[in-house]
Amino acid sequence: MTPDTEWTYLDNNATTKPAPEVVDAMIPYYSTCWGNPSSLHEFGRQVATTIDTARNQVAQLIGARRASCIVFTSSGTEADNLAIYGLLKAQPDKKHIVTSQVEHSAIRIFCMTLEKDGYEVTYLPVGKDGTLEPEDVKNAIRKDTACVALMWANNETGVTFPIQEIAKICQELNVPLHTDAVQAAGKIPIDVEQTAVNTLAISGHKIHAPKGVGALYIARGTPFRPMLCGGGQEHGRRSGTENVAQIVAMGVAAQLSFEHLPLVQQEITPLRDQLEKGLLERIPDAHINGSSNMRTPNTTNLSCPGADGEGLILALSAEKVAASTGSACSAGSTEPSHVLVAMKLNRQDLQGTLRLSLSRYTTAADIERALDIIPRVVASRRRLAPR
Ligand code: PLP
Repeated sequence: MTPDTEWTYLDNNATTKPAPEVVDAMIPYYSTCWGNPSSLHEFGRQVATTIDTARNQVAQLIGARRASCIVFTSSGTEADNLAIYGLLKAQPDKKHIVTSQVEHSAIRIFCMTLEKDGYEVTYLPVGKDGTLEPEDVKNAIRKDTACVALMWANNETGVTFPIQEIAKICQELNVPLHTDAVQAAGKIPIDVEQTAVNTLAISGHKIHAPKGVGALYIARGTPFRPMLCGGGQEHGRRSGTENVAQIVAMGVAAQLSFEHLPLVQQEITPLRDQLEKGLLERIPDAHINGSSNMRTPNTTNLSCPGADGEGLILALSAEKVAASTGSACSAGSTEPSHVLVAMKLNRQDLQGTLRLSLSRYTTAADIERALDIIPRVVASRRRLAPR
């Protein structure tokens, strides 16, 4: 394995570097503090207390007043699946779901599976800039709608949906709202006390915790049935002995993300803007996909017509620049991105897309190096493209 220091890493929407503080915090739970948090004795109780701390830290990141509303899961995918499953099972007479055409597969593919089980799903379209009209959500809701499931921020473009407005609509029409905030948490402020969502999913490895841990916020009074039943852990909403070290990691990562949030605007946005401006100046005909004002501060999705996305990624990889084309979670697929197809990009623009995503560990030197290498690689891929 090449050490991370050799890389210019611009693929933070795929995964982020585990923060050193997070890694340090986990270690005791793999070595000396291995008690079972459900035990009555003090050796286990101490571990339970640590989980409570992590629950509070995650609650703070999303503005939840009650930490008991947080359920730890194995991933963002599980949190998304669990939210939708829990809402559907608790309302067995309702068989309709409203979602969008640009969701991450954790929602999109789950909804497609549910269609095979007799549910009806409305996949709302988005505009050319990737944004969603709240009015379209309102018009799609029916008497038998069990839930609305929409992302807060898109993993491929960073485009954000107006979740606050959508939450008001759902509240008025008394339909539960699930939001996938995996790409929003730590990048834009989230306050579940101000935004009436019923459930909200986040993922550890997008906020500098390790892979394999997530969390689901479930507002009080939300109709919900658990998927995993057993020992009643996580306040009966997800049974199974807790993955303590990962939960501790998620807590510390959430705390750090909360503390760094004001710096995101001050530090990451200027770097991202510098990168975008530099690329647009240096790459003829390149353009940015996605709304410029409704977008997370760390993400750029760039079309370089005449180049091929996969070839670009491999050529950049050879230069130790990590980037992505389409969603990394569906890596290996050469199908055009469903997100960019929904945004009605033409064929040329679809083929030559690059997703560049920054984090608080991205430096000015990374941006300089990217601006030196990416335009050169795009030019050489364009020369190789069949006419
Ligand atoms: N939702 C969004 C928007 C994502 O970007 C991802 C991962 O990329 C997920 C859900 C799934 O999260 P996890 O990788 O923790 O399963």
